[in-house]
Amino acid sequence: MDYFNYKDNELYAEDVKVSSLVKEYGTPLYVYSKATLQRHMRSFEEACSSHKHLICYAVKANSSLSILSLMAKMGAGFDIVSKGELLRVLEAGGDPKKVVFSGVGKTDDEIAFALKTGINCLNVESEAEAYNIENIARDLGIKAKIAIRVNPNVDAKTHPSISTGLKNNKFGISYDKAFDVYKKLSQSPYIQISGIDCHIGSQMTSGQPIVDAVARLLELYHKLKDNGINIDHIDIGGGLGVTYGDETPPSPSEFMSAVIALLKDIDVAIYIEPGRAMVANAGILLTQVLYTKQNGDKNFCIVDAGMNDLIRPALYNSWMNIIEANKKTGPKLCYDVVGPVCESDDFLGKDRHLCVERGDILAVRGAGAYGSAMSSTYNSRALCAEVMVSGDKSCVIRKRQDLKEIFANEVIVDL
Ligand SMILES: *Cc1c(COP(=O)(O)O)cnc(C)c1O
Repeated sequence: MDYFNYKDNELYAEDVKVSSLVKEYGTPLYVYSKATLQRHMRSFEEACSSHKHLICYAVKANSSLSILSLMAKMGAGFDIVSKGELLRVLEAGGDPKKVVFSGVGKTDDEIAFALKTGINCLNVESEAEAYNIENIARDLGIKAKIAIRVNPNVDAKTHPSISTGLKNNKFGISYDKAFDVYKKLSQSPYIQISGIDCHIGSQMTSGQPIVDAVARLLELYHKLKDNGINIDHIDIGGGLGVTYGDETPPSPSEFMSAVIALLKDIDVAIYIEPGRAMVANAGILLTQVLYTKQNGDKNFCIVDAGMNDLIRPALYNSWMNIIEANKKTGPKLCYDVVGPVCESDDFLGKDRHLCVERGDILAVRGAGAYGSAMSSTYNSRALCAEVMVSGDKSCVIRKRQDLKEIFANEVIVDL
């Protein structure tokens, strides 16, 4: 459920007509609904409320400072994958004690900075990384809190590019090795074993894979406990899917109830790292129709947002709903909605039935996650503006980039 709805055939973001946002801020434009973000955060809180828990919003889904600040105010922790994301969390007022740090390739600098900042937990993704963390912690005289990201070899049954829990993926430590690594690390005075972690994939539309994964983590928990290694949390990662088209993912409470049932008798906190489910449907991308044309058998609707603004369709062949900001009654044509970037894969949607002409506004729904966060300046196109809407108010949360900023760090040399 979100707060982007039609009234009299005009699309609104909460109580603001999106056409008036376009007049004020231009296109392409990301628009977020504060009420939707709050609603999602609350539904995760409620879903977890019967057990000790920490919701660590996965920053990479949308790292906008305003969104991080809103999450922090609502009590969220954060799952980060880089020092840059940690700096964003701190800038937005996030509590470092609620931050977990994932990622297969943390640098020495990133590990040292995280340890000095006093984050909650480093999610370790290889044995080599574990010993590196131990060395850095020793140099700093700090005891590093860690969880091992276990690869439970469970199929998340999602798109191969966003499946991460199979034994041949680059992520985590394989289930069979994890126990031995825990045992070795438990001898170290510079390591505090804090948790077991997994993240098996993204856009899961069933809760079963996560239940299967948690069942495996639970076995490991017992084995560790029997060997005197006590942990304080089990981190089930993120991955809950959203509705882009006809998917019917479980609600946060449906998703969590089976997990909580498995863990209800053990005295550990449940950490969860939702990204997409928190922000996807809280954002839309507004774009203006530049031209329509016919090539061969195809109608093209050429818009001013491209794969540099929203890469999911080009990168994963993701289907995202494209709707008219102003629903008209005329005949619809079947269009490929494409951007201005010089790549044949630069499309937002294919075979869409629309009634559009030059100047009309289209909205790409479900664009709040992995939209702005994955945008680039390819083709020397500026990073677009972003606004947050709350009730009948709107505010810029990122200014449109000035074109000269794109090359501001470059120097012309004549060697
Ligand atoms: C990307 C990621 C998440 C969030 O995944 P979603 O599918 O967006 O919920 C959580 N944890 C880790 C380790 C990730 O890499």
